[in-house]
Amino acid sequence: MFEEAAEKQLGKKELGGKGYGLVEMTKLGLPVPSGIIITTNMCNEFFRNGKKIWPALQSKILEKVAELEKKTGKKFNDPEHPLLVSVRSGAPMSMPGMMDTVLNLGINDKIVAALAAKIGDERFAYDTYRRFISMFGKIVLGIDESKFSSILESYKESVHAKSDLDINAEGWKKIAEEYKKVIKQETGKDLPSDPKEQLMLAVSAVFNSWWNQRAIEYRKIYGISDSLGTAVNIVTMVYGNLDDKSATGVAFTRNPSTGEKGIFGEILLKAQGEDVVSGVRTPLPVDKLKESLPDAYEELIRVTKTLEAHFKDMQDIEFTIESGKLYMLQTRTGKRTALAAVKIATDLVEEGLITKEEALLRVEPQQLEQLLYKQIDPNTKEKPFAKGLAASPGAAIGKLAFTVAEAQEAKRRGEKVILVRPETTPEDIAGIAAAEGVLTARGGMTSHAAVVTRGMGKPCIVGAEEIKIDMNAHTISVNGKPISGEYITIDGTNGLVYDKQMPLVEPKLSGSLSTILSWADKFRRLGVMANADTPEMAKKARENGAEGIGLDRTERMFNAPERLAIVQKMILADTKEERMKYLSQLKPMQKEDFIGILKAMDGLPVTIRLLDVPLHEFLPKLDELLPEVVELRLKGTDAEKLVEKEKVLKRVMELREANPMMGQRGVRLSLVYPEIYEMQVEAIFEALAELTKQGFHPKVEIMISQVAEAQELKKAKEIVTAKAEEVMQKLNAKFEYKVGSMIETPRAALTASKIAQYADFFSFGTNDLTQATFAFSRDDVEAKFIPFYLSNTILASNPFQTLDYDAVGRLVKLASKEGKEANPKLKVGVCGEHGGDPSSIEFFNGTDVDYVSCSPYRVPVARLAAAQAEIRRKSSAQASSTV
Ligand code: ADP
Ligand code: MG
Ligand code: MG
Repeated sequence: MFEEAAEKQLGKKELGGKGYGLVEMTKLGLPVPSGIIITTNMCNEFFRNGKKIWPALQSKILEKVAELEKKTGKKFNDPEHPLLVSVRSGAPMSMPGMMDTVLNLGINDKIVAALAAKIGDERFAYDTYRRFISMFGKIVLGIDESKFSSILESYKESVHAKSDLDINAEGWKKIAEEYKKVIKQETGKDLPSDPKEQLMLAVSAVFNSWWNQRAIEYRKIYGISDSLGTAVNIVTMVYGNLDDKSATGVAFTRNPSTGEKGIFGEILLKAQGEDVVSGVRTPLPVDKLKESLPDAYEELIRVTKTLEAHFKDMQDIEFTIESGKLYMLQTRTGKRTALAAVKIATDLVEEGLITKEEALLRVEPQQLEQLLYKQIDPNTKEKPFAKGLAASPGAAIGKLAFTVAEAQEAKRRGEKVILVRPETTPEDIAGIAAAEGVLTARGGMTSHAAVVTRGMGKPCIVGAEEIKIDMNAHTISVNGKPISGEYITIDGTNGLVYDKQMPLVEPKLSGSLSTILSWADKFRRLGVMANADTPEMAKKARENGAEGIGLDRTERMFNAPERLAIVQKMILADTKEERMKYLSQLKPMQKEDFIGILKAMDGLPVTIRLLDVPLHEFLPKLDELLPEVVELRLKGTDAEKLVEKEKVLKRVMELREANPMMGQRGVRLSLVYPEIYEMQVEAIFEALAELTKQGFHPKVEIMISQVAEAQELKKAKEIVTAKAEEVMQKLNAKFEYKVGSMIETPRAALTASKIAQYADFFSFGTNDLTQATFAFSRDDVEAKFIPFYLSNTILASNPFQTLDYDAVGRLVKLASKEGKEANPKLKVGVCGEHGGDPSSIEFFNGTDVDYVSCSPYRVPVARLAAAQAEIRRKSSAQASSTV
């Protein structure tokens, strides 16, 4: 019984999410129909027991049913006071629409007649009966739904009924009879009439639904453990289809798409709960209750306030109004878009319901990226092709995919698609996962597609009713006009559909998002910098709150189209003098680049990494060059070109390395050819001197890559310092700068204390460090075997996405600690992709690392993740000190 569970303080793990919500509402004294919960443990026991309900469980259930009968004054199979119940699944993690519920259980030929007589409404009684038969048939007996729906459809046609509401008592009676025949036909047995037998079969079916295909798929996508099991909720029925003062609805206590305050949802008058979700009738906005059932509406608002005050969060609720009286059937924390998550969290702080720390922990850092997602340019003059409901924000462009299989195939081919469906069902989940976004012709803001895409953070438009989908012709049309091209663009922020690829723009940080990020900045310990190579990226990084550039790669300064020719000549040069000649042509261009980026980041540190990649990356590929030379030789007509190509070929052969990743690159290249570094630092220092003179405040940190031995850094630093002196003298200027080392080889990490003597800062290049630590070449292994390792749980996660704490993390920890011990002024950062991964950030926060650096778009993610990490670290430190 709900009351017992409340007393025993059972949690979601035992009661499942639905049961937990019902019990909490019971505790709060809210109007909840009485009921029983069979715990998740019993589900696991059920599977251990060969999928059978064992005698002890059966008698326990019956004992509780007897208590329920006593409590409600109703009884199974009692014509005077018949007890009807719903049998509902409910896993510990919310899995919306993933498992099935049987309503109106306990009804049979005898009870339906008694019900009709007692209530004086035959239509209601037989409507209820036919609902039970088809649900029981489908969910418990596994009969194909179409067997029932085709009967209903043809009956509707025969009496010219537009909707279910037009069917009278006689009609439902006939349909119920037909349904019973289907059951006999399909199973060879009559529909069980004993409510207890019905119940045991239904309980088994709910347990079994834990392993149905869509539940398995959902768990896979969300990483929910198979071992949790589902609880079964047996709840006394209340009837939203009883009379004109009855209704059923689903609602959110705030808008799940924008986070705006105020109840947001849909109702159907004179209907049972399933009707809203399944979309058989188009629901009305919940506000309509204000007119039709004002008392119940007021009660509903009161209940939502109580729920929010208790759960301190936005709730997703199901309710039914029976003859004017409100009953609560479900509450759970509502899924929401990133936009809504941020707005709700900041609003709840304002309302005094939660603290800033709690608000910061409420928002999923990964989700923030969504908010910075592109949108269709709001100033576009282009006319939309169609309009629907804006169900999940963000814009997406793709080709059309009409089925799950099409979407999955396209994804495999690397193509982007929008999944287009009349409406989605739980079976479509894998297709939604494969698509960029979803467009449906039917359904409301609480329909399946809307709920699932919001959870996944994918753009979605639902209820675009003007769109006709032609599965055969593989196209969609509006008013008979098919789309013009292959692509469509959908914008889930405003519900607009365009029949072409639209230009997208990037939104700026503002409103609640800036508020929550400014709170994050107060709580975090780690600095957040950005990896940016151009002034535009630097600008974006700054806008997103980066405190500097943690990694400015200079490679692009060599391979821009107009420079590549010079770089190639430089590499081909036979003598140092010749090489210097070409380098001096490059210098002014690079200086301009440095001026650009230093200006964009004025006042903030810019970490410039000197040339890192091996030289052969700037030369033509051997497999392309060789055939060209062979052809030129055979033709023998163009001697001049042949000589030139042969020279290149010779150099390419010389520079060729078996393992370029581990070859002559970074510091190793530059100690042998110091003129390359010299040109780069000269350009940097000249830029620095000029900007300083102009009144700017450039802050330069020069970073040396691929260091494995302290002496390498020492020598490289000598090159830099000498150049700095030279430029200062030449330009009669004074400026400051720092020199630091990337730590991306295990040897560097292990000799950190030596390297730290020559370094102002360390920056962990965790990508290369991961490659070197695992001896995995990323380009090869990510395609070849990492997916296999992941699906066979040889690796728990891809080490290039989430830091490998055991080894790479251990090196980071050790090197940052020993580095700082050797040089207390040492600043330590992380510039690999892990710097933007929330769980890796949590790890770095627990080490001596001072800052992380990530892509400009991930800067807000990192700011929030760093705050969360520090809040959690402090609260667990506090918890352990009070023990
Ligand atoms: P789901 O997890 O798919 O939402 P539910 O168990 O919540 O499944 O139930 C499906 C529908 O049936 C919901 O609309 C719910 O409100 C309704 N429902 C469940 N139990 C009852 C009941 N005892 N009386 C009336 N309606 C119910
Ligand atoms: Mg529900
Ligand atoms: Mg590297």
